[in-house]
Amino acid sequence: MTSLCIVGAGAAGAGAADALSDTDIDVTVLEKSRGVCGRAATRRKDGCRYDHGANYVKDPDDRTTAFVRDLGEDGLIDITEPVWTFDSSGRLSEGDSRDDHKFNWTEGMTQLAKRLFARADAEVKNATRVAAIDREGERWSVVDTDGNGHGPFDALLLTPPAPQTAALLADTRWDDGRLPRLREAVGAVQYRTIRTYVLHYPFEQDRPWYGLVNVDKAHDIGWVSREECKAGHVPDGESLLVVQMSPAWSTAHYDDPLDESVDVVAEKVATLLDDPALSTPDWYDDQGWRYALPDEGVSDVVHEAEDDGLFFAGDWVAGAARVHAALWNGIEQGERIGEHLAASRL
Ligand SMILES: Cc1cc2nc3c(=O)[nH]c(=O)nc-3n(C[C@H](O)[C@H](O)[C@H](O)COP(=O)(O)OP(=O)(O)OC[C@H]3O[C@@H](n4cnc5c(N)ncnc54)[C@H](O)[C@@H]3O)c2cc1C
Repeated sequence: MTSLCIVGAGAAGAGAADALSDTDIDVTVLEKSRGVCGRAATRRKDGCRYDHGANYVKDPDDRTTAFVRDLGEDGLIDITEPVWTFDSSGRLSEGDSRDDHKFNWTEGMTQLAKRLFARADAEVKNATRVAAIDREGERWSVVDTDGNGHGPFDALLLTPPAPQTAALLADTRWDDGRLPRLREAVGAVQYRTIRTYVLHYPFEQDRPWYGLVNVDKAHDIGWVSREECKAGHVPDGESLLVVQMSPAWSTAHYDDPLDESVDVVAEKVATLLDDPALSTPDWYDDQGWRYALPDEGVSDVVHEAEDDGLFFAGDWVAGAARVHAALWNGIEQGERIGEHLAASRL
């Protein structure tokens, strides 16, 4: 039996595990947080459930719909209300509602990875942050931040965002000329930062849209959406807005205390939506995403070490900051790993 270690249990890591579920490869998944699905994140508070990272999975290439349906129709949501647009002056327009499908689940976005890992019957070791990588002979071992060793494995798949993967490559012991090139290529991928605010109100809102996106990228707010449009997220009689601030605003205010900055954000939301009542949410929450969205994909250098069992996957490898892109990249890399390990046994 051959073995694989997947670092990171986001959409890419889950896709890779799923792609290998019919093989006899022994898969170990190491994930630093207590949950799964990475930036496609869901949180619960005061009877509400909200997706404070990715809002939904779209299907631009007609293959994701069948895939998510195959994971089970139970609890699957396709948000019907449209996404409208707004510009820097705060003018709202109907937009082109180009996302035919906006998939989510009554229990939130994390269902994507939960369902994939369950189908793959893969065990995820949570609260395990990988700190260093070692090449031992022809195999790979990793050490976590508690000093525990894992492996050796025949192949290693790294899926954290590029800056976090670059940090792992900086702590990799492998005497090979490809390592400096990999470090440089992965370290060069730039990211946008997003600070998400969650605003809850003890009243309903009657609006014709699910989400609003700022199309000229010149407003302090980048995105607003109504979680009550997703079944199972917000009790009747309440409303909950997910507000993603622009990368420029988020970078400038990343460390501002929540209790102070939420007043500024709620005021901006009240102005945008032309409703003074929105300036005083009855409770709120936030999440900073330092590495929210990769600006571009990594160079092909990232595939140079695959002959030696070192693989990479994620939205930054796919070159698109989207859940479906990370998912399909994970699936494709999982299939390549399967071929590599099958060939290595011949
Ligand atoms: C605010 C926000 C809104 C977004 N909205 C949308 C949207 O509406 N639709 C859409 O399609 N996309 C959206 N995206 C983008 C989408 O979330 C990502 O493209 C996608 O989730 C990336 O998946 P991934 O598996 O590549 O990476 P991740 O989800 O980042 O998964 C990587 C995993 O690696 C783990 N990890 C990191 N370092 C280590 C380590 N050292 N050891 C162990 N584990 C580690 C992380 O905890 C994480 O779970 C949004 C992103 C953000 C931040």
